[in-house]
Amino acid sequence: MDDATEAAKHPSAAPAEPLQARALEMYQRLLQTYGHRPLVPRREPMHELISTILSHRTTGRNEELAYQRMIARFGSWEAIRDAPVDELTAAIAPANYAEQKAPRIKEVLRRIIAERGAPTLDFLRAMPLSDAMAWLTALPGVGPKTASLVLLFCFGRPVLPVDTHVHRVTQRVGLIGPKVDAAAAHALLLRLLPPDPELLFNFHINTLRHGQRVCVWGTPRCSRCVLTDLCDYYLAGRPRA
Ligand code: SF4
Repeated sequence: MDDATEAAKHPSAAPAEPLQARALEMYQRLLQTYGHRPLVPRREPMHELISTILSHRTTGRNEELAYQRMIARFGSWEAIRDAPVDELTAAIAPANYAEQKAPRIKEVLRRIIAERGAPTLDFLRAMPLSDAMAWLTALPGVGPKTASLVLLFCFGRPVLPVDTHVHRVTQRVGLIGPKVDAAAAHALLLRLLPPDPELLFNFHINTLRHGQRVCVWGTPRCSRCVLTDLCDYYLAGRPRA
């Protein structure tokens, strides 16, 4: 079964046409505002997975610094797997929660190498999509956001990573309910968008940008927003700048 067929057969794939139309209109307006980017893998899959674990509650600059220090200190995935945990913790110290991330990274590498015989995720390219999500999210410290990032960014699989910005913007617009957490939002938002990896990639990238620049945490800058007539938060007259 191909990815699009699998997505359409998902039990949660019930029609939600008004919300689907709103999601597509939001996608088009953000595309006009921020532009289109081709879906080209930015990193090798193991790099994407481990960097995303390092990125949790950490700036992009410190995530990159932690990754480069780790690679410079140990040199290979096998050496990182076998490293004393305190030495790995010291190497990735620019990342927040390094003492939690170091044992997780070691365990992730141990499981991948033990199961696949090498530090590789290339088998995920052909694995059924739901199986690939389940396999990744069974790893310690890997939730739906990290798994979706690896599958979409590295393999072009049709999933949608929901980070804090995508979660906040889609919640304010009203694509997901006010009590839906980011983990649950992954499946709900996928129901509203076509299973097209390029579209999902640009929805993710542009919604994230919108959350960083306009629909910011705290008081959103609604006077600069192209989504006002689509947005539950705005139409409800909540505080905004
Ligand atoms: S109208 Fe305001 S709350 Fe709604 S998406 Fe735009 S900035 Fe966010």
